[in-house]
Amino acid sequence: MYTYESSKTLFERAQQSIPGGVNSPVRAFKSVGGTPVFIQKAKGAYLFDADGQQYIDYIASWGPMILGHAYEPVIKAIQAQAEYSTSYGAPTELEIEMAELIKSMVPNVDLIRMVSSGTEACMSALRLARGYTGRNKFIKFEGCYHGHADPFLVKAGSGVATFNIQTVPGVTAGASGDTLNCAYNNWEAVQRLVAENKDEVAAIILEPVAGNMGCILPEPGFIEGLRKICTEEKIVLIFDEVMNGFRLAAGGAQEKLGIDADLVTYGKVIGAGMPVGAFGGKKEIMESVAPLGNVYQAGTLSGNPIAMIAGYTLLKELKNNPALLQELDAKTMYLKEGLQDVLNQWGQPFVINHIGSMISVHFSETPVTDFASAQAADNARFNKLFHSMLKRGIYLPPSAFESWFLNNALSYSDLDKTVQVLKESLMEL
Ligand SMILES: *Cc1c(COP(=O)(O)O)cnc(C)c1O
Repeated sequence: MYTYESSKTLFERAQQSIPGGVNSPVRAFKSVGGTPVFIQKAKGAYLFDADGQQYIDYIASWGPMILGHAYEPVIKAIQAQAEYSTSYGAPTELEIEMAELIKSMVPNVDLIRMVSSGTEACMSALRLARGYTGRNKFIKFEGCYHGHADPFLVKAGSGVATFNIQTVPGVTAGASGDTLNCAYNNWEAVQRLVAENKDEVAAIILEPVAGNMGCILPEPGFIEGLRKICTEEKIVLIFDEVMNGFRLAAGGAQEKLGIDADLVTYGKVIGAGMPVGAFGGKKEIMESVAPLGNVYQAGTLSGNPIAMIAGYTLLKELKNNPALLQELDAKTMYLKEGLQDVLNQWGQPFVINHIGSMISVHFSETPVTDFASAQAADNARFNKLFHSMLKRGIYLPPSAFESWFLNNALSYSDLDKTVQVLKESLMEL
């Protein structure tokens, strides 16, 4: 059993100088309780904490470390690039190569703009959709997370859901008044909202596969319906692929689900662990972005050379070697079957949601298809499970409202160990 002596000391100290001791809320373990584990280093599928204890990692930095931590080609590329300075504030050939690479992986992206986070990508895509259509309202789905820009912080997922923050102080009615919320997978409700707000809806934004309320799959027909209504009503369909992009397939959710969005946002995998995001899509829409158009968007460190070389190197691996994502998906399927066997023997109600290398376990008697059903699950039980697994060396996301992310450095014996640890941990619930 692990002790967290050094982490406890560091957490005490961190709280004296950082709000809550962390630079992003879910890291504080507030919902699962206990002391957050302070990480010292990571390699492949393993995290090492400040006490030198080793964990099998199911977060992968919330996605980016898809081929494992400290992936050699990425590290080497960063080291070489750093010799040439870390930023210029002027264009580089590397940015063209990055944009061309993404276009070659995602055929319906004509133009793409790099930013520094998923939040920025979604915020900019929404502004663009509004500027392009001349409309103000947009539809989003309860439990989806699109970063922390004001208009999205209404019934959002991820940390907002984890901490049960219903309304966010500081977000004015003016900023969130044009946000129309709808239950995920509820096609009838979308039709109703669009009809009630005829010619006023600029965009529909969603996670095509949701990962911020656990992993939740779109039901058959749901996204097809959104595509249809967006085309008919001249609404911009935005896929937030910050989690899905370059993970569900080299071409992301669009390829996996066989549906084209009008705009797509990226983050996480696109930067290989460096702060990167991007938004891109149809030429006609993207041409409204400054300096071509008047929809202003900018960034001092956008297209940063270290971030670009890291992301470029990782995406190139994923493009050139399709076997990598296939291996990763096969490992996830293997893990799912192992988890399922153990949970079946245990005999209490559970649901596993899974696609590609995203998976989550919910202690629920009914299918988990939207935020309400994710919330209705026995999440106190998940929180206990989290700690039982953690002290045995398995690092799951510290909230039931997060997907698990597998990485391809995981070995089959790591997966076997995870299933064994689940078996032991269930006896403590
Ligand atoms: C993580 C995430 C974001 C926000 O990205 P940041 O880089 O944390 O700003 C947006 N959308 C989705 C779907 C995400 O998972």
